[in-house]
Amino acid sequence: MKRVIVLVISAAYWALTLGGRLASRNQYCVVLYYHGVSAKTAKAFAEQMAWLADRFEVVRLSDALTPRTRAAVCITFDDALENLLTNAIPVLTRLELPATIIAVSRNLAKPPQWEMTPGHAESNERTMSEAQLHILPHELIDVGSHTCTHPHLPRLSKEDVRRELCDSKSDL
Ligand SMILES: [Zn+2]
Repeated sequence: MKRVIVLVISAAYWALTLGGRLASRNQYCVVLYYHGVSAKTAKAFAEQMAWLADRFEVVRLSDALTPRTRAAVCITFDDALENLLTNAIPVLTRLELPATIIAVSRNLAKPPQWEMTPGHAESNERTMSEAQLHILPHELIDVGSHTCTHPHLPRLSKEDVRRELCDSKSDL
């Protein structure tokens, strides 16, 4: 009898643990991190977004840490490159997918002024202007704070890191 009770308790424990594991497996949120979407990659991007929209709950970045029972995805774009306006925003709007564009607050409306690897594909791409950031469809698209000038943060002092992060937010 004792053995049967132990067996029943073990089986229940196993079932609960497995159930717990299965539930937590679905609670993750993956944050996807894009840069620009060029004319060359626009078709692949549109296909990726349709694939995501079919399979996952796509949530705003501000909801990334909300507990959930279904796997979720956040879409982000680093550096606010202008080509998103023609090659990404229309796709996101059509599929009603939220996303966050992370702008370098003192590098608007010009190519990146920060250090890039020589020949980087995006070194001549313009970033969005202030006016372009304003006209984004904000019911779907959030603007996130990057830094002011996109420095290599490990090289800066604590105070300069704080200034880059805080001033970028107040600029925006
Ligand atoms: Zn960046």
